[in-house]
Amino acid sequence: MRLLDHHFDGITMGDVVWHSRWETWVRLADTFRQGNVFLAGDAAHVHSTTGGQGMNCCMQDAFNLGWKLALVLKGYARPELLDTYEAERRPVAEQVIWAASSLHDIFMTHGKDIGQRTRTMFDPGYTEKVVNYCSGVAYTYRDYVQKPADLTELNGPAIGDRAPDLDFEQGGALFDRLRHEYFTLMAMPGDCDRAPVIERLQRRFSRVLAVETLPRSEALSKRYGATDGRLFCVRPDGYIGFKCSADEAHLLEATLEGVLTI
Ligand SMILES: Cc1cc2nc3c(=O)[nH]c(=O)nc-3n(C[C@H](O)[C@H](O)[C@H](O)COP(=O)(O)OP(=O)(O)OC[C@H]3O[C@@H](n4cnc5c(N)ncnc54)[C@H](O)[C@@H]3O)c2cc1C
Repeated sequence: MRLLDHHFDGITMGDVVWHSRWETWVRLADTFRQGNVFLAGDAAHVHSTTGGQGMNCCMQDAFNLGWKLALVLKGYARPELLDTYEAERRPVAEQVIWAASSLHDIFMTHGKDIGQRTRTMFDPGYTEKVVNYCSGVAYTYRDYVQKPADLTELNGPAIGDRAPDLDFEQGGALFDRLRHEYFTLMAMPGDCDRAPVIERLQRRFSRVLAVETLPRSEALSKRYGATDGRLFCVRPDGYIGFKCSADEAHLLEATLEGVLTI
């Protein structure tokens, strides 16, 4: 109340009519899966509300697990796909816990020296790291999504990154084309002859693969690097599962074969 009196004119505090005690916990489950039981959301990880990411992270867990469960239950994917849930999501939970705890220490740890807390905020790279870890869209599964060792490295967003959205100059957004429950094979504009390759992939994986041939677009080149006929396979949760040039499409086919049963 004294703070309000000191800093704000014309605001007075009335009587507190309701209050509750709020406690915060920091917990992370050792494992997110045991047999057919999966932990997601607060059951798998809880932390301070500072940063406001708890629910977002919980929904991303569900988003990551949902399509994998659906494909395995339908018999379209191998059960090993389910192991990738913990491999991909537990590190994200660790990141969010670090960011939330670190912000909690700055904003809510009463009794700690204010100078020291302020200095932390000015540590080089601190703000960027904490914002990235808290933002909910900066997570990447780069280190966890399997890819062949002999795949050529290409510029632009990497395998395991969240596929970036963009507006086409011709109208419509890229995400409009990804709004379904399947993988999307995005064929980038280019002059190379990849029609037989795309046809083959479409035929083989027709039940789970939608093909989108994208128009030439400056926004697309900017967000996805040189496009020149490249193939991007976007997972149902919007993350890039694979990318290659058309002449390495056999590696994409082998990777899909490793995951899918059809
Ligand atoms: C004060 C506060 C502010 C927050 N602010 C934000 C914010 O700004 N942004 C954000 O992203 N997140 C925020 N969060 C975090 C967010 O609310 C949680 O991360 C999120 O609600 C967790 O969702 P959940 O489905 O995993 O768990 P819950 O929402 O806890 O759902 C679990 C459900 O299971 C039920 N249940 C428990 N046991 C059983 C049982 N044995 N049988 C049947 N049902 C059972 C419970 O009743 C509950 O309905 C905040 C949390 C708090 C406490």
